[in-house]
Amino acid sequence: MKNRVKKEIDFSVYTETYLGKVGELTLKGSNIKTFEKQLVNNLRTALETADAKVKVLTGRLYVHCTKESCGAVEFALDHLLGITGWAKVQNVEKNMDAITESVKVEGLKAKAAGAKTFKIDARREDKAFPLNSYEICIQAAGVLFDDGTMDVDVKHPDCVINVEVRDKAYVYCAQKKTGRGLPVGVSGKGLLLLSGGIDSPVAGYRMMRRGMRVECVYFHSYPYTSEEAQKKVQDLAKSIAMYGMETHLNVVPFTEVQMKIKQKAPEEYSTLMLRLCMMKVANMIGKHIGSDAIITGESLGQVASQTSQNLAVTESFAELPLYRPLIGLDKEEIVDTALEIGTYATSILPYEDCCVLFSPKHPVLRADVEESRKIYESMEIDDLVAKAFEERQIIRYSIRDEIASMQASV
Ligand code: ATP
Ligand code: MG
Repeated sequence: MKNRVKKEIDFSVYTETYLGKVGELTLKGSNIKTFEKQLVNNLRTALETADAKVKVLTGRLYVHCTKESCGAVEFALDHLLGITGWAKVQNVEKNMDAITESVKVEGLKAKAAGAKTFKIDARREDKAFPLNSYEICIQAAGVLFDDGTMDVDVKHPDCVINVEVRDKAYVYCAQKKTGRGLPVGVSGKGLLLLSGGIDSPVAGYRMMRRGMRVECVYFHSYPYTSEEAQKKVQDLAKSIAMYGMETHLNVVPFTEVQMKIKQKAPEEYSTLMLRLCMMKVANMIGKHIGSDAIITGESLGQVASQTSQNLAVTESFAELPLYRPLIGLDKEEIVDTALEIGTYATSILPYEDCCVLFSPKHPVLRADVEESRKIYESMEIDDLVAKAFEERQIIRYSIRDEIASMQASV
């Protein structure tokens, strides 16, 4: 066997430390190892091109990195699902002098940001450390309280300064809240029907938060829907890929299918028939990529095509389980999430994902499953649908690539 030369890592350059709090994972008993492993793998993949080391220890995620990689690490932590929040921490020697000095720095920062009261939250994981957590709290609090920097308030403090004594001592204050959920990759794969609207990107994100890998499909009817409309969907796919690690956007040319629907279907059924054709292609792509489910952004009663009867018709064409994570949400709730994840501004750009030419004036509101199937069959459209599937183009987006290009411009 060849002798492997181990690459020397110079740890002294990793001067910066971040800590992520593992979220729901702590509730999961025996699954926790799998989940933690996925979480660490996700972060390592995202940060492959950055100078950073990732590890997980007793419910905490640690990232050590160089100063130059801080931007990349913060971008990755902001998008990482499976943690409840993260903080940049001071990482000091395990002695009370170093700890109290760091507590003072954190306290002064918090005071400058407007905090009047504080509390110390201490955790001693290293039981060999001579002081217990209560004693750490008392000594650490003294440095801010004794000289009147801030008052102590253990019930409702303006800021909590955390001290954790482990392999080193970690001191930090403000925590940035993030998306929580489960790490992407622990719940299989779903195929999202992604339009340029507000809803479907949110639907994809919701499923990512439950640990699903999400691939996307967009139906494009050029020139009836513009190139800008497609660009908008590409931007949305890229945005959600930052949370979901990566996604492949399947762009399916649907002009011929739409023309045939217009020609053959009763006008009031045209939107519903379009949905059925989309579902047929989604079935094909879903099976091709080994997807466990199809995901849409539908919400009960939002538009004519989303009455419970019409939803039942669409569902009857799905050959994989159909997930509609927004089904019971109000538009305002969906908009809140779109704002939170940064897709809203793109979604409201004025390029429509469907054309008025194909939108019926009076769409059917309560379609019947059997009747709809008969209309679908009478169109004899399966060959065109299969051709559209064959002619799809695939574009890949990933957080790894995004961070690589951020790093290249540092
Ligand atoms: P959205 O805001 O997601 O566009 P919507 O409220 O406009 O949804 P519809 O246009 O009826 O509702 O679409 C319902 C769902 O069908 C969408 O959420 C999406 O999942 C899917 N969908 C609609 N149009 C397309 C398209 N051109 N490509 C891919 N999926 C689509
Ligand atoms: Mg839409």
